[in-house]
Amino acid sequence: MKIVQFLRDKILAPLVVVLLMPIIISIASKINTGDWMEWFGLIPKTAWIIFGVVIFLWVIIIPIRNRVKQLQELDAGPLLFARSSYGFGWIPIGKLNYAGVVWRVRVPATSSWKHFGHLDISPSSIEVETPPRCPKCETDLEQSHSFWGGYVWRCVECDFQKRNRDSYYREAKRAEKIARREWEKQEHESSSV
Ligand SMILES: [Zn+2]
Repeated sequence: MKIVQFLRDKILAPLVVVLLMPIIISIASKINTGDWMEWFGLIPKTAWIIFGVVIFLWVIIIPIRNRVKQLQELDAGPLLFARSSYGFGWIPIGKLNYAGVVWRVRVPATSSWKHFGHLDISPSSIEVETPPRCPKCETDLEQSHSFWGGYVWRCVECDFQKRNRDSYYREAKRAEKIARREWEKQEHESSSV
């Protein structure tokens, strides 16, 4: 439905105008003068230029403007991802390099006083924090939608910038899987010693 609407509004309408105009002019020319091409010669050059510019704006500028508007709305929109929160806060357990940035790995504290031993942590409780951090200076990264699709991650402190196909919320879920598996492996090694 959306695709049909898109084709109709963005591609079909300009195309119809572009194709129909010369056909209408040549039919009118044939009826009035007996020659298919005669009326084309009567149209001044400036009219052709204006016509060309209008079509150019229609085909090129309007979709670009729409895309920019759409991105502004996306970036201003509410954050859909609510991460779980724990009353006792988080205990950082390490860092992970993934997708070209640094992810902080953490587990929820089960109480305000309990000290974690290595074996107390179950891999399923491991979470990766968002936003990820800059690989150069470890500042939180900012995310925005890229014009051509995908995302751009920018460091607010240094000049680090990275394009990524998926959002960092999605990449965080992947980093989480890797972190959990790494933890499992470590646990296995330490229990077999
Ligand atoms: Zn940085």
